[in-house]
This record gives sequence, C-alpha cells and structure tokens, in this order.
Amino acid sequence: MGVKIQAVKGMNDILPVAGKDSVWTTADWLAFEEIAHKWLAQYGYKNIRTPMIEPTGLFVRSIGTDTDVVGKEMYTFDDYGESLSLRPEGTASCLRAVVEHNLLYNSPQKLWYMGAMFRHEKPQKGRYRQFHQIGVEALGYAGADTDAEIIAMCFDLWQKLGIQNCVQLEINCLGNREERAAHRTALVEYLKRHENQLDEDSRRRMVTNPLRVLDSKNPAMQEIAENAPKLSDYLGSGSLKHYNALQNILNSLDIPFVENHRLVRGLDYYNSTVFEWTTDKLGAQGTICGGGRYDGLIEELGGKPTPSIGFAIGIERLLLLVKSHGNLKIDNSPDIYAMYQGETAQPHLMRAVQNLRHAGFSVLTHGADQKLATQFKKADASGAKFALIVAENEVLSGSLTVKNLQTGEQVSLSPNEVINQLNQWSM
Ligand code: ATP
Ligand code: MG
Repeated sequence: MGVKIQAVKGMNDILPVAGKDSVWTTADWLAFEEIAHKWLAQYGYKNIRTPMIEPTGLFVRSIGTDTDVVGKEMYTFDDYGESLSLRPEGTASCLRAVVEHNLLYNSPQKLWYMGAMFRHEKPQKGRYRQFHQIGVEALGYAGADTDAEIIAMCFDLWQKLGIQNCVQLEINCLGNREERAAHRTALVEYLKRHENQLDEDSRRRMVTNPLRVLDSKNPAMQEIAENAPKLSDYLGSGSLKHYNALQNILNSLDIPFVENHRLVRGLDYYNSTVFEWTTDKLGAQGTICGGGRYDGLIEELGGKPTPSIGFAIGIERLLLLVKSHGNLKIDNSPDIYAMYQGETAQPHLMRAVQNLRHAGFSVLTHGADQKLATQFKKADASGAKFALIVAENEVLSGSLTVKNLQTGEQVSLSPNEVINQLNQWSM
C-alpha cells in the first residue's frame, strides 16, 4: 500500500460531512452561496472572475511592500523568468481586469467576486493558508451614500444569517493624501520621542509606514498608540463632510457603529472611509469583513482616476460564526429514496425515477440489489420523506410501490397515480 498523501498545511478540504478540522460541510457552503447570490443581485452587483495567479508586481503596486500581506505572506514563484504570485486578496485582480478590459469606459461598475485566496500565515482556527473571500467593488462612485450602502449591505447579510447581534461595526476616516502626510509628520515626531518604548515592528514601521504602528496588536504598544496624534485632528472640511454624511445615513438606517480612530486597515491603498465588522466570538480571528475607499488605486493601476469603495468578507470566519451563533437553513435530504429487488426490476425502477425527477421530485437511488430491510434503513438515514420500491410484483403488474416514511402508509399504484399520491402526501 502506498503512503497516504495529505493536503498542504493550512489548506482545507470541504467535505459533504463535517470533518476533523472543519465545522462546516459543502452543504453549508452551498446554502451560504445561494443566499449570497440573491443578496448580491438585490443590490445590483455583477459577478467577475479573474485568475488565481497574477504578476507579482500587481500586488506589490496595489497592496504595498510594507504590508504583512506582500512583505511576509505571499506565495510567489518564478515562472520561467516571470515572477508570479497566488492572489492574497481580490481587489487588485478585479481592478487589473477592469482596467485591462476598459469596463469603466462609459459607466461605473458594481462588481462582486468569490473565491480562494492564499496567504502564508500560521494556520489556526479562522486563519488558513488557503481561505475564501466574497467581496464587492463599487467603481466610479464618490458619494457617502455608496459607502453607507455597502455597509448596509453587510448588515443585511448578517441579518439573513442570524448573526447581527454578534458583530460590531467600526468605522474611521483616513482622509486624503495631504491630510495623511500632515498627520504622518506629527506622528513620526511623536514616535521618535517614544522610540525607546517601541517594539521592533513598530520601530521599522515608524520609518516605512508609521500609520500602521497605530494598529499594532502588541499589548505593550497600546498606550503609545492610544496617545498618538489622531488622524481625525488633521482632516479637512471635505473629508469631514463625507465622514459626517456617512454617519448620518448609518444613523437613519439604524445601523449601530463605533468610531475607532486607530482603525487603519492592513493594506496601503485605502483612503477616506474604512470599516471593519468584528466579533468577540472567534477569539483572536475576530474580523469577519474589512473594507474601505481606494479612490487612487485604479489610476495607480493605469486607469483613469475613479473613486471607488469595496469590502471583503472571510467566508470561513463567517461560517464559523454562523455555525456557532447564527442559522443557515439547509435541507439536504432527498424527497424519495428509490430501491429495487431483482435485476429485472432495474429498468422499470430507473424509468420511474427519471419520471419522478422530471415531475420535480429529488430522488436518491440506493444503487444495489440488497435486502429490503437494509435498503429501508438507508432510506431512513437519508432523511427522505418517501420510499419508492420496485420488486418482481411491481414489474409483473406494471405498478410502483410508494411508502410514506413519516406515516408508514404504503400503496401500489400506476406510475401516474404515484405522482398524484406523492403530491398529496407532500401537501
Ligand atoms: P487579519 O487582521 O485577521 O489578518 P486582514 O486584515 O489581513 O485580517 P483582510 O486582508 O482585510 O484581512 O481580508 C478580509 C477578510 O478576509 C478578513 O477580515 C478575514 O475575515 C479574512 N481573512 C484574511 N486572512 C485570512 C486567513 N488567513 N484565513 C481566513 N480568513 C482570512
Ligand atoms: Mg492578515
């Protein structure tokens, strides 16, 4: 016997049954995707699908080199002289495609994507090396109404999944480039004054990306970060107006939020509005959705200046939360479990099964000529409501036997009458 090969560390199989390290099944994923597809359509978003591998430069240019994602977590390899990377997130690829195909030529775009993302992180509950995101990008929309709409959209999804009481919305305004530059000068001065108290990461970031010192997770950095100059004190009237408008709309939609002036997000491309949805139910992996404005990114990637905003939801984390605190209604069981006895019954049964499927019933076939008692056990285990039985008697009389597995009632009828009977039982 050969040695068993295992999946790559941090990359999960999603199975029809809950596995040793996954609380969800493919049925959970499909149920979520069905809800998500309807939800996205309600908001007018269209699907976009891009390759999982892109030129490394795309991520370097859009996400930034001094981010954890590009600096430490990317799967990068040489492809015969060209540096390529597995996508660590969806926005860069989406915008690359939009610019490449000139989709913004004469109208703005509302796009959504869903798929696997790859980051070389330390695997743990809610943090994997292959994980999935579902995200939206509203391209060509400058107003605070769009910021509020995509936040409302998230809130709507939480409600559909029954987790609206387990999540909290945090918002912040990162201002524009000039405002950030003025704040940066003050921040660097402040950090220099406290340099001997900074950890190694923060000392490095003080030079490369000082704003990120503010979202250090190190408990020893909290006091320094809390007392640092606040970006909100450097916002001009335009940024403040936008930020206030967003808050007014959120209030009018009854969407609770808290302001977090240290929320800066891990990627470099954000400006103005940023937000995160967090939960305290998943330990350290508490962020289930992050988003914000990236008004300069499309231009950076070779397109025309296009004000834009988007978010990405981590599906694994969302499903962990839904499985423990929310609800996902899944009815995976077939209507009918079909069984036969004797080889001559096979064609008779299969014809009946196809007719029932065409009449709208879902049918699971047992697929082996076994004792009826064995087949009935499997029928019960499948959760089917009815059993269809074809044995020698049915073949000779041209009839079908159906049993209502809930009431125990059993009848033999002509194929047409069977459909009527099943419809009646289903009412
Ligand atoms: P974190 O701070 O937890 O590392 P992040 O800021 O790196 O998150 P984003 O880049 O904003 O995450 O990605 C959006 C969402 O994708 C996150 O809020 C999270 O739900 C999910 N996510 C990110 N990295 C992972 C991962 N390694 N495994 C599972 N989900 C992830
Ligand atoms: Mg991360």
